[in-house]
Amino acid sequence: MMPTGKRSEERLYEFIERLFDQDCRSVFQVLYEEGKELSDEELAEKTGLRLNVVRRALNMLLEKSLVTYRRVKEPGRFRSEFYWRVNLDGLQQLLLQRKKMALEKLKTRLRVEKETYYYVCPLDGARYSLDEAAEYDYICPRCGTPLMPDENQDKIVAVLERIVEKLGEEIKREEVQRR
Ligand SMILES: [Zn+2]
Repeated sequence: MMPTGKRSEERLYEFIERLFDQDCRSVFQVLYEEGKELSDEELAEKTGLRLNVVRRALNMLLEKSLVTYRRVKEPGRFRSEFYWRVNLDGLQQLLLQRKKMALEKLKTRLRVEKETYYYVCPLDGARYSLDEAAEYDYICPRCGTPLMPDENQDKIVAVLERIVEKLGEEIKREEVQRR
């Protein structure tokens, strides 16, 4: 599913900015919001960016299949005109890929939480694995308070399991939709 609503749009633009840079975000945002084809010149005008900056951003977005173009050779003109739009399919694929990566990270984290016994400092909340705690003689290296077994660990595992399950289902649903 495409993200909908102002907040998720903002998140999408921020994601593009993190992945590329601010110029790419501006170009992508204009294309996404206009929802129609725009030429290099129109994009430069609407973003306030220089034409070469717009073209660089478009090439970067094109490399990740986030935009597509239509090339038009106008009679009597030396250069072909390019008309750009957001590639929704490419965008969906990229978002799905990101979700899969996030899921793998969460699964690893969950495995570690399940396999490792944790200690926590009751004063500052710092968390240490059993190995680390043993290394510090069960004394918080930050403040010298004796470390306690982390009683929240079961809760953390339960929360992680829920997130992993939800994200896994979401990915499965999206993959079915793509077929
Ligand atoms: Zn401490």
